[in-house]
Formats: sequence, C-alpha cells, structure tokens
Amino acid sequence: MYPSNFCSDVARFADEFLESLATRPVGARVEPEELRRRFATPLPEAGSAPHAVLTSLVADLRDALTASAGPRYFGFVIGGTLPAALGADWLASAWDQNGGLYAASPAASVVEDVAASWVVELLGLAETTSVGLVTGGQMANFTGLAAARQGVLTRAGWDLERDGLQGAPEVHVVVSAAAHATIFKALKLLGFGLRQIRTVEADAQGRQSAEALAAVLADCDGPTIVCAQAGNVNTGSFDPLAKIIELAHGQDAWVHVDGAFGLWAAVSPALRHLVAGFEQADSWATDAHKWLNVPYDSGLVLVADRAAHRAAMALSGSYLVETPRQRDSQGWGPESSRRARGFALYAVLKSLGRHGVIQLIERSCELARRMAKGLDEAPCFEVLNDVVLNQVLVRFQPPSGEDPDKATRGLLERIQQEGTCWFGPTTQDGRTVLRISVSNWATDPADIDRSVEAILRCAGGERG
Ligand SMILES: *Cc1c(COP(=O)(O)O)cnc(C)c1O
Repeated sequence: MYPSNFCSDVARFADEFLESLATRPVGARVEPEELRRRFATPLPEAGSAPHAVLTSLVADLRDALTASAGPRYFGFVIGGTLPAALGADWLASAWDQNGGLYAASPAASVVEDVAASWVVELLGLAETTSVGLVTGGQMANFTGLAAARQGVLTRAGWDLERDGLQGAPEVHVVVSAAAHATIFKALKLLGFGLRQIRTVEADAQGRQSAEALAAVLADCDGPTIVCAQAGNVNTGSFDPLAKIIELAHGQDAWVHVDGAFGLWAAVSPALRHLVAGFEQADSWATDAHKWLNVPYDSGLVLVADRAAHRAAMALSGSYLVETPRQRDSQGWGPESSRRARGFALYAVLKSLGRHGVIQLIERSCELARRMAKGLDEAPCFEVLNDVVLNQVLVRFQPPSGEDPDKATRGLLERIQQEGTCWFGPTTQDGRTVLRISVSNWATDPADIDRSVEAILRCAGGERG
C-alpha cells in the first residue's frame, strides 16, 4: 500500500516549488558538475523509502530547476501549466490508466475523444477531422506526414501498407526554408533523404514565398507533399496558407501545416486572419503543451483524410481488443501503451472554455507587443520582427560600437545570470538576436515591465 499521507507530502513539495516561482531566479543556478556530483552515486544495492527518495530529490534539485512554469520565462516557446491541467495530469499518473486502448481504460478513451472533438471545434475544422494525441509537435509532424505519405501514394494507386516504400512512385516533398527542424526529422523517420526535399525560399520574417512555391511545384509531377507553417518559431510569422493550399491542391498535392503554437491563432476572431484558409489543408500539427499550457507531453495531430491517418497508424495483434465505435488511441498515433494524456487536455479546455482560450492567446500577443514596445523605445535596442503573434526578436547595439553579435550574446548572459527573466538567442538574417516568447498563462503586464527593466539594467551595466 501507499504510505499514509503520501500524496499530500508530494503535493507539499509541489506547492513549495510553485510558490517559489514568483521569486526564484528564472534560470538554473548550479553548475552541471556540481549537479552531477549530487546524483552520480553508485547504483544503490538496497532501496530507500519513497518519502526519503523524494525528499532528497527535491533538496538536490533546489537550485537546478528552471522556472519555465513561471511568468517570466520567455525561452523557446514553452508555456506553463494551468492549475486544472496540473491536477488532471497528476491524477492521470495516480490512476495509471493505459491510454492506448478503450479496453484498457474506457475513462482515458472517452475523455480523450471528447477533448479531441473540442479541439476540432475550437479550431473550426471539419467535424470529420481525425485527431491523434501524441507526445509533442515532433510526433504530430511525424504522424501528419505519415498520413500524407499514405494519402498521396494511395491516390497514385500504390498500396503502401502491402508494398512498402521501396519501389513506390517517387513522392515529392516541398518544405519552406524556414521550416522547423522537426519537419526534417519527421521526414527522415519517414524515409525521405535531404536530397529529396525541395526547399522554397522564405522572406526575412520566415514566410514561405508562394511565388517560389509555384515554381518548385511546376517541377513536381506525381505524388507531392507540401509543408507549410503557422507560426515561425523565431518571428511567429505565418506562411500565406490560403495561397499555398490553392497552389498545392491545384496539382493534387497534400498540404501539411506545422502550427505547433501558431495554429491557436485560429481560435481568436482578432487573429484568425493570420491562418486564413488553413482549414482547407490536409493535416495539421500542434501542441497543447506549449501555448495551451498543458504539461508535457501533449501534442496534437489532425488529419482531414481519416482513412489515410488510420492506414498510416493502424496497429493490430491477436490480443489487442479493438472496440468498434470507441476510440483506440493507438490507431491514431505512433505509440501503443502510453499515459492518458487526454485528461489534462480535457481539463484545460473545461477550465478555460472557449473564451478563456481566446483570452490566453490574445493576452500573450498583447504582452508580447508590450515587451516589444518597452525594448524598442529604449536606446540601443531594436525589434527586428513584425510582432504579429507572441514572439519578439530584439537586437542589441551598444554605443561603444562593440560588435553587436558579441554584445548581444554578452547581454544575454548577464540577463540569464541576473535571474528576473530568462530567454535565449537565435539568429535572424545571420545576426544574433534575443528571442522572446510570451506563452505562459500566468504572465501579466507587471512581469513584462519588470523584465524590460531588468533587461535595460543589464544593458546599462554594459554602458556604465
Ligand atoms: C516547438 C515546435 C515544434 C516541435 O514541437 P515539440 O513539442 O517540441 O516536439 C515544431 N514546430 C514548431 C513551429 C514549433 O514551434
């Protein structure tokens, strides 16, 4: 049996951490060697009581955890965890449901199915859209592109399941030069080599050029997959989706949209223009663990052609009891047994409602503009992207005339060290810039203002 009060003790550890988010330095504060020293004991021969294990884990990690769950973490595109989602996620572990099969957990299957249909409705996609809950954007891209490969080969009269990829008609794959790295990894896992991927040039904001796409497509005859993007990971920009889809569909190509965070613009009446036409695409990848503020792991793949999705991911075995008309999740994603990740997604959608999701998305964008304005008005800072969404790219150019790449990197180090906020670098047009993402439900205007002040202080230290 579990020790009595076991979960309340664990919850206390969690409460202490969550309460510390307001004040703890946002970045980790320990050198890797020191951290390793605390953990790298010989493999214990004898075990320890669970409470003792957790107590020492918490103590040894005291200064090593990133406050990415907190309101002033602006690194990558991360998002935090909404309270309802955190609770549901804990319960998913306590309940220990196998989310792969209805027969293993009717609870996980039905709740996940409802959450999936809510996502389809929220995004405004066709009711018949099929959905897979996967680990993240990477696997959502993988699954969407597997369905794409299946779909275009089926249309070409090729039985991929029976005859495999070797000897199949050549599948043309077209990708934006500004596509996310996970698109390339997904294609690699699906058997496409780099030389088989045609890239379409993108502009300075990272938007795929429709004209360039038209030229590339003119050279593709036969089965073709076009990858488009909703929300560039640096700038937050959107490919011209309507135009891309029109061109691609003009020659029967499949369009996959990577919208790991940007797809959520679709829920907002004020932002939906950014994804105009996106509902005509064939598959979409997005994350719940980023902007929707569900804990890891939570990605979503959506596919218009259910049959292609199904054929690409179906799994069968004599002991696997398929339950007709119920959701067997293992048929919609690459995994078999897995955590019941639908509970947390359901909890977020239930706790926010449509209005809450819209507010979460719109507020992040508003705060990103506030951050951009605060920095752009300061001497020595320049915002380099059109802040159309929640991403801000900032260049630092000190009056000393120091090389701006070097100065930007130096400033970043001081900001990370100072601890008020945290974000990383990227390169834009070959230049090193600060990359700021506002995607946490808990961030408020005061967090932005405090962060701007801290950034300027760190920059001032340089000047003074
Ligand atoms: C984050 C991201 C991904 C990858 O998602 P993971 O959840 O990290 O696997 C893919 N595409 C874009 C545009 C992203 O921002």
